[in-house]
Amino acid sequence: MNLIIFGPPGSGKGTYASRLESKLGIKRIATGDIFRDEIKKNTELGKKVVKFYNRGELVPDYITIEVLRKALEEIVKKNFILDGFPRTVEQAKALEKIVKIDAIINILAHEEILIEKTQARRICSNTKCDGNYNLADIRKTIDNIEYILPPILPKKPGICDKCGSELYQRADDEDLELIKRRLRVYEEQSKPVIFFYKGKVRFIDIYMNRPPEQIVERILQELKNIGLLP
Ligand code: AMP
Repeated sequence: MNLIIFGPPGSGKGTYASRLESKLGIKRIATGDIFRDEIKKNTELGKKVVKFYNRGELVPDYITIEVLRKALEEIVKKNFILDGFPRTVEQAKALEKIVKIDAIINILAHEEILIEKTQARRICSNTKCDGNYNLADIRKTIDNIEYILPPILPKKPGICDKCGSELYQRADDEDLELIKRRLRVYEEQSKPVIFFYKGKVRFIDIYMNRPPEQIVERILQELKNIGLLP
């Protein structure tokens, strides 16, 4: 099964994709994680992309598409979930030529929730680990959507439950202006991807208004409803 998880920054894509990876036995490919890893190791690719990353801008398509192409080659192009790709119509067009996508999981949320969640995100410093936590405690209703999002805390403050490494706040999550810029980039450059796929690929639209385990259950149910899971 080849899936895309799509949604604005802070919508929990990484969390859901990691859980789906183990539940479905598919491989999660996250371009953001690949870039963070390359930047940390100060590789040639890392040096090329760091300025875009630090400004909250998209890395140019020709670089990102190559990175994705290589990542897909490593897994013989099947049974994956793409997290954070495609983020432009150009990327979606390139992807169409490489593999077939079975469904898009489209995560929805109000901007005020996204900002709160993004500022409160803490991730594992071990690049081999996908530990992901959140300090925000959100209970509110906006436009008739009731959000109940308790914090996702590690057992020991600041330490990853899964591997014992330290947690940290992503540099691009620290600065409110940068978060807002990434949301604008999403609206202007990434949202058109939805219109590119409408009518071509099956969509699963889901509000991120409950804790991850419930959202993942809803996604699995929807995958059954459209016949991708027995
Ligand atoms: P993420 O971890 O998905 O929020 O991505 C963090 C940053 O990596 C983004 O703000 C972009 O600078 C870059 N990035 C990740 N995926 C892509 C993509 N598909 N296209 C362009 N830039 C990307």
